Amino acid sequence: MSLKVNEIFYSIQGESSYVGWPCTFIRLTGCNLRCSYCDTTYAYSEAAYLSISEIALKVSSFKCPLVEVTGGEPLIQKETTSLISELLVKGYNVLLETNGTQDISKVDPRCVRIVDIKCPSSGQAQKNDVGNLKRLTEKDEIKFVIGSKEDFEYAKGMLGLIPKPVRTRRHIHFSPVFGKMELEKLAKWILNDHLEVRLQVQLHKIIWSPARRGV
Ligand code: SF4
Repeated sequence: MSLKVNEIFYSIQGESSYVGWPCTFIRLTGCNLRCSYCDTTYAYSEAAYLSISEIALKVSSFKCPLVEVTGGEPLIQKETTSLISELLVKGYNVLLETNGTQDISKVDPRCVRIVDIKCPSSGQAQKNDVGNLKRLTEKDEIKFVIGSKEDFEYAKGMLGLIPKPVRTRRHIHFSPVFGKMELEKLAKWILNDHLEVRLQVQLHKIIWSPARRGV
């Protein structure tokens, strides 16, 4: 059983409630979407074929208890759920970053599932699997990437559909499209409307060059 892997690297977690923590990233190859602002187009096709045990061996070399499986879209490879379960069995705290088009119920619920809800400026909002909102547990997190006032209003309109445990644990992230959406403007909109959401910056793009890979 092997997976198409784009890269495995050790860095600082730049997003989610785990922001700032050292983390090993497994970036899987392939995506079923083409978001207008995509910053990982290199993950659409560049791949090495690695078995789950080869991936686990590489991950262990970083000696880090936190691991994120990301992409691309990780859940379009059917072996991804087995990889996540294997990492959990090995004792890692596992995060999954998924684009919101795939059914998350097939993923081991011990994994923290960070689910995108695509907004209109992505060009992909019609592909959201809104059924995922009912599948979230209190550990899971939601991310909206916001590039315009229309996106903000769309995200705001979705908040009432998010289960209370996710809302009350403050696991809803509003993240600006890097280089397009001004942080100050998004902050002002959130404050004006008294939204209980987290304004999220992509910390890794502040620490390192935004175009740099493997960080
Ligand atoms: S889901 Fe992520 S990887 Fe896929 S196109 Fe959108 S931003 Fe890029």
